[in-house]
Amino acid sequence: MLDQVRIVLVNTSHTGNMGSAARAMKTMGLSNLVLVDPQALPDGNANALAAGASDILASARIVPTLQEAIADCALVIGTSARSRTLSWPMLGPREAGAKLVSEGAKHPVALVFGRERTGLTNDELQACHYHVAIPANPEYSSLNVAMAVQTLCYEVRMHWLEHQDGSVDEQDDVVEYPSAAAQEGFYQHLEQTLLQTGFISEGHPGQVMSKLRRLFNRARPEAVELNILRGILTSVQKPHPPR
Ligand code: SAH
Repeated sequence: MLDQVRIVLVNTSHTGNMGSAARAMKTMGLSNLVLVDPQALPDGNANALAAGASDILASARIVPTLQEAIADCALVIGTSARSRTLSWPMLGPREAGAKLVSEGAKHPVALVFGRERTGLTNDELQACHYHVAIPANPEYSSLNVAMAVQTLCYEVRMHWLEHQDGSVDEQDDVVEYPSAAAQEGFYQHLEQTLLQTGFISEGHPGQVMSKLRRLFNRARPEAVELNILRGILTSVQKPHPPR
């Protein structure tokens, strides 16, 4: 089950942090690491800090974009030390651990970490269903990225240990959520349609798409519901036959 919880590090610059993150994961029983566009490839320094967890580094998948890293995930949680301009549904670390474990029993889920200096971009954060912030000292809230990985993987493990008997949260039992790729496909389709109807204009998109993403991410349409929404968009795009 813990293999279903993917740890995604975006654009990491220090290879040592990749190694420390791998070690943090392994101590908590996680093994699925994806590096998105790392600024350097894992090296001796990374392996030194990974200590006995260099197997996790060696099997890490390296991909060019966040989209690719999370394509098959039906739950994506982004991490952030501070709240951003466009506020997003927030989870505490404990709730995030619980959600990752209960949904991870059904489909791949991802926990996304940002750059050492600048964190995640707004676009990257908007690709997530929820954000999680470790409630650190408000005057100094930014943890080293590998330590943030440790803290949140610990919460995942705590929840997993409590539910090893196989009990799952009931309300999540039957719901099938779309993958991030399917959801992204819907946003592209929605934007295209709104451009076509003239509701938004090319070059001046404003905040509409961000707000719509937030709306639909918050509502979390199920796979079947997303298909209905896409069908509606297709019907709007088609010329209407006269009645
Ligand atoms: N100045 C950046 C800090 C980046 S710290 C910012 O404001 O986002 C590097 C990464 O560590 C972050 O992108 C996040 O993934 C993780 N991180 C650091 N502190 C965190 C916290 N308090 N809660 C959650 N994640 C945190």
